[in-house]
Amino acid sequence: MTTLKVENLHVSVAGKEILKGLDLIVNTGEIHAIMGPNGTGKSTLSQTIMGHPAYQVTQGNIYIDGQNLAEMSVDARARAGLFLAMQYPSEIQGVTNTEFMRAAINARRPEDDQISVMSFIEKLDEKREFLAMTEEMAERYLNEGFSGGEKKRNEILQMMMIQPQIAILDEIDSGLDIDALKVVSRGVNSMRSNEFGALMITHYQRLLDYIVPDFVHVMMDGKIVKTGDANLAKKLEAEGYAGLRDELGLDV
Ligand code: ADP
Ligand code: MG
Ligand code: MG
Repeated sequence: MTTLKVENLHVSVAGKEILKGLDLIVNTGEIHAIMGPNGTGKSTLSQTIMGHPAYQVTQGNIYIDGQNLAEMSVDARARAGLFLAMQYPSEIQGVTNTEFMRAAINARRPEDDQISVMSFIEKLDEKREFLAMTEEMAERYLNEGFSGGEKKRNEILQMMMIQPQIAILDEIDSGLDIDALKVVSRGVNSMRSNEFGALMITHYQRLLDYIVPDFVHVMMDGKIVKTGDANLAKKLEAEGYAGLRDELGLDV
């Protein structure tokens, strides 16, 4: 089992405190959703987990299986089994999607057990077909104009190829039409197992109709203010964040 543990996390961006004492544990075998109003720090959490230099941890820690992320490079985090959709910016020059995925898979395997070209291609064809992606898309250069929907689909392809232990999926539903949303959901659901956990960040309940989470967390003003099961998302959809603020007596 792999565990991502976030403990009393405080993060500042450009001198302003955004995360104000966030606690969270994600184990393999669990799908967690974080919902919350715009600007509440959801993306700040995912960027901090993956080590984006603009996000400064001022208090608290993040651990993967007891190893402190503060002492790990971005590459080391990926090797430890973390995956962040959007962690590989489309601006990477001169690298094809396929080359990138092979390098990422091999970075997680010992030197003397690199994936063979044959098994890589077999795996790629299988996942690509499952996601209804063209061969051309898989072969494209990473900096070559993926549309919003293609980008999301491609992130799911990368995730299925790399097979991380814990995936952080920030707004994988944004900008998707209903068909693309179904494909993306099919990809995430196909990963569900005791060897895989995910933290899905979303504004909308809609995604959670397709990928039913085990836990739903509501984040407001830089903290998790409520945790429940999938029904919590439905309740939020019906009552809005205002209803929850009233219930919790929050004035944020
Ligand atoms: P969410 O994902 O919940 O909508 P974000 O984490 O993106 O929220 O943003 C939280 C707050 O941090 C916002 O006020 C946003 O303007 C600020 N913020 C996030 N990233 C940066 C950045 N790189 N530079 C300056 N401010 C930022
Ligand atoms: Mg935002
Ligand atoms: Mg965001």
